Amino acid sequence: MVFLGAPGAGKGTQAKQLAAGHGVLHISSGDMLREQVAAGTELGRAADTFMRSGQLVPDDVIIGMVLERIRRPDAARAWILDGFPRTLNQAEALDQALEQASLGLSHVFSFEVPHDVLVRRLTARWTCGSCGAIWNTEFKPPAKAGVCDTCGGALQQRSDDRPEAVTARLEVYTRQTAPLLDYYRSQGVLHDVDADRPPSDILADLARMISDPDRSPSSRSR
Ligand code: AMP
Repeated sequence: MVFLGAPGAGKGTQAKQLAAGHGVLHISSGDMLREQVAAGTELGRAADTFMRSGQLVPDDVIIGMVLERIRRPDAARAWILDGFPRTLNQAEALDQALEQASLGLSHVFSFEVPHDVLVRRLTARWTCGSCGAIWNTEFKPPAKAGVCDTCGGALQQRSDDRPEAVTARLEVYTRQTAPLLDYYRSQGVLHDVDADRPPSDILADLARMISDPDRSPSSRSR
């Protein structure tokens, strides 16, 4: 499966929960890049400047990283790609890799959220430095400011959730990623999801769509 949507649309939150509930691997390209940055690897250093300014990391860096990930044994059964692909080049590279392995995408979900809601969500978003839980000072505040309810870790704001970077990321989405909607629509795998609703309602819809026998993966899909 692929989760498409602007930054702040809730892809990560839904992907984590759907993956946990269905024994599916969650692969977030943004999390993978942040791990590389934190570890100070060559790839992380190459990605860091782009990420801080809200721009996309170059295709040649990200495509190799994600394709290598989905070829590992723990990705053999089923996965959710969250945040990848984000350009037509990336989508074509993914299709080629899947075709070579006689696989295909079963579902591509497009998370639809109005622009003003995205801006509010992103600038109010805080992430736990220890367990990765996501909090939002407007919509889902932690009981104690700056502290994760789940594990007690310290909450941090991502550098790319600052207002200037948020505007850049939303523009990048419209220009470079939104064209993927037509790409996947023409393949007949795209499902629009109204993601401006309570998270539990969205999750229930996703679970229903992936278990609907009329929409379930064919023998060549995952
Ligand atoms: P995310 O956590 O998905 O919002 O990603 C954070 C940042 O990582 C993005 O703003 C990009 O700089 C970079 N990034 C993540 N996924 C991709 C991708 N598929 N292509 C290019 N850059 C990406």
